[in-house]
Amino acid sequence: MKHIGVDLGGTNIVVGLMDEDGNIIKSYTRPTMSDRKTEEIFDDIIDMCKILIDEYKLSKSSLKGIGMGIPGEVDAKAGIINYSNNIPMKNFNVLEYMQKLCSLCDMDIDFYFANDADCAALGELIAGAGKGHSDLVILTLGTGVGGGIIINHKIYSGFYAGGAELGHQTIVHNGELCTCGNKGCLEAYASATALIRDAKKAALENPHSLLNSLAKNNVDNITAKIVFDAKDQKDEIATNLVENYIEYLSVGVANLINIFKPEILVLSGGISKQGEKLTTPLKEKVITKIFGNNLKTKIEIATLGNDAGLIGAGMLSR
Ligand SMILES: [Zn+2]
Repeated sequence: MKHIGVDLGGTNIVVGLMDEDGNIIKSYTRPTMSDRKTEEIFDDIIDMCKILIDEYKLSKSSLKGIGMGIPGEVDAKAGIINYSNNIPMKNFNVLEYMQKLCSLCDMDIDFYFANDADCAALGELIAGAGKGHSDLVILTLGTGVGGGIIINHKIYSGFYAGGAELGHQTIVHNGELCTCGNKGCLEAYASATALIRDAKKAALENPHSLLNSLAKNNVDNITAKIVFDAKDQKDEIATNLVENYIEYLSVGVANLINIFKPEILVLSGGISKQGEKLTTPLKEKVITKIFGNNLKTKIEIATLGNDAGLIGAGMLSR
């Protein structure tokens, strides 16, 4: 059986055909142009799905279903997008709208929906770093901190619609202000944005630091990579920043391990590109914080990159 996955992002729509193991056979990308009407965006998705169905002569007996990863809050059972952050969609009945494709192809198609971060978690479990496991937690360290939870091969989405807000667990009572309006969230300490915020402050206080020279003496040029690079060059200020960053990250990771005891916890997003330079010190700090101080959960870096969401969306119909 084949599966079609749809990864609807703020910038691009990717529609891909894949096999039972999540190997992408063919995919198409079009710009989302998110400021247009929701119906127009989904007309593009319908068109892209139809191209794949025609090209591979898919029928009810060879296409298991079409899965979609939606950025925002989606009621998966009802097939309704409640709202989205990146694309102005509100209370959109996506299940009903996608029926257009069934009449265009003259076949009955099963549709599946999930939050895009949850899809990325499922993708990593089936075809990425979590392959061969049944329980996984993923933490995405990017502009914000996102995540997803897989329990026994299935997305754990909780009682009501929306993704798992792993980045908005409080790790410091009354701490730094978070983008969500609350204080002390993991995101306010473990996102790339948080590391850059702290690095800018440190660079301004220490104008002759390596951070400043790597940023060409303009703190607005500081990236998370520059901070890690400066640390690699034994810069004391950057070393402290990275140490501090990993310390806070370890609190969030230890909380997740204490609660879910997953087989594997996967890190993705820009900061995860640091690889073992991140995971080795992180594990040391996590061990000191988890119950029993015995780390049985593997902590690894995601392997699918941008394809995780697409693959996970396709695998919703597996
Ligand atoms: Zn928050």
